[in-house]
Amino acid sequence: MPRLAARVSRIDSSGIRKIFDLARSLKDPINLSIGQPDFDVPPELKRAAHAAIDAGRNTYTLTQGIPELREQVRGEERAVTGRDWTGEQTLITSGVSGGLFLAQLALVDDGDEVIIPDPYFVMYKHLVRLFGGTPVYLDTYASGFGIDPAALERAITPRTKLLLINSPANPTGRILSRAELEAVAAVCARRGVLCVSDEIYRHFAYVPMTSMAAVNSDTLVLVGHSKSFGMTGWRLGYACGPTEVVQAMTKVQQYSFVCAPSITQYAALACPQVDLHPHIDAYRAKRDLMVGILSKRFELAPPDGAFYLWAKAPDGWTGARFVEHCIANNLLVIPGNVFSERDTHFRICYTVPDEKLRQGAELLCRLAEAKPG
Ligand code: PMP
Repeated sequence: MPRLAARVSRIDSSGIRKIFDLARSLKDPINLSIGQPDFDVPPELKRAAHAAIDAGRNTYTLTQGIPELREQVRGEERAVTGRDWTGEQTLITSGVSGGLFLAQLALVDDGDEVIIPDPYFVMYKHLVRLFGGTPVYLDTYASGFGIDPAALERAITPRTKLLLINSPANPTGRILSRAELEAVAAVCARRGVLCVSDEIYRHFAYVPMTSMAAVNSDTLVLVGHSKSFGMTGWRLGYACGPTEVVQAMTKVQQYSFVCAPSITQYAALACPQVDLHPHIDAYRAKRDLMVGILSKRFELAPPDGAFYLWAKAPDGWTGARFVEHCIANNLLVIPGNVFSERDTHFRICYTVPDEKLRQGAELLCRLAEAKPG
């Protein structure tokens, strides 16, 4: 048995794995745990993918991505954020995960600190640790899951390299308002901290959504196709940001991913033909359905976007204990301590058919009446 690299021991997958192990023992559970859309890839994209394969688009592409897609992405960023990134500031990645991975490799040195608002997307802290950085958690429970600029200011030290934000957020669904982003941007600019803005859920916004790139040019914005186009397995996304950062990420991509999948890149040229509104409207309606039932019994974070609800466990319960109680009753949700240094909440994902949602929400309300044993 070879001796494993020390970096592997700095990360673990036990939190989520425990839930999925438990889940396997259930028969036909009400599953509100899976963080991906319930719609398939739109037909326009499937046709484009088939055509790409038939046309022989099966080889490596340029490391930075095919020129047509980079142009398309630049146009989209101009439209959404008003920012005119150059070609050198644009990189096609293997999903947002690929962008996060390259960004950490390009930016984080041993001992560098990365500020992560808590609750957070699980991958963030593990990637930071994998590459020798130190995650610094910025607790957002007291600020309604927004970012308090004074608390941010206090968390910054001479070792701070990055601030990682995610709006609309996984797991809370919270969207940072333009004013909140401006306040955060002012602190970052004053203290020389680069902001990495994970905007994978940017299309699923039920209140006005501003990109951090619209208010702060010193931002690395990461956007993905996985959730918007139901193509989590196709591995596509992109990064736009300051030239040196994107160029360094491109250099790392050359020796790691090589390029994002070719077929997927060509297929994504058909993305502008796809009308996302039916899906967005459907998820807004699911959110309303869930909030309507759950808000009577649970304290919920502002359900502004994405497809998650962040609910406080009932009085007397920790998040983990309440989730065990749910699983014992054939309902799957994820305990908050997977996404947080606290254990007070749990995450609900509402990308399932309405009937299941209604059953799940009503069951959660009934389960909240029990006292912890
Ligand atoms: N960021 C967030 C906040 C996510 O929730 C996810 C997927 N769950 C990702 C990034 C990764 O997405 P992908 O690599 O599929 O683009």
